[in-house]
Amino acid sequence: MTVSRPEFAPFFEHARQGRLSFPKCGSCGRFHWYPMPRCPHCRKAGWHWQQVSAAGEIYSFTIVRHPFDPNRRDALPYVVALIAFADAPGIHLVTNIVDADASAVRVGQRVEPVFPHDADGLLSFRLSSADRSAP
Ligand SMILES: [Zn+2]
Repeated sequence: MTVSRPEFAPFFEHARQGRLSFPKCGSCGRFHWYPMPRCPHCRKAGWHWQQVSAAGEIYSFTIVRHPFDPNRRDALPYVVALIAFADAPGIHLVTNIVDADASAVRVGQRVEPVFPHDADGLLSFRLSSADRSAP
């Protein structure tokens, strides 16, 4: 994928390497998303990319049924979700839930990452194996 915002490049590079990382402030120790010059919590400069466990939980989601993006018409309906991570308090990552029946997605379900395999791929998530088999 072509990254038009260079500050996001490490995030996508880490994802291609099978890692999830977010900016973590060296002063107050809090995570923030997205990358920005200064920590939004304490306004200090000096944060670093901190790798976290990519196992997360659905914080909120919506089911997209309208072809806002004509290139994704064949993918309808699809799920856009906010994912929360126990290792990165305060982070809510916008992503897609893939390989799931949209009507089966629920807030609180555990998810696992689907890391991209090439430069054109995007990081997405799928329901964790435990939640895929839940009734
Ligand atoms: Zn801070």
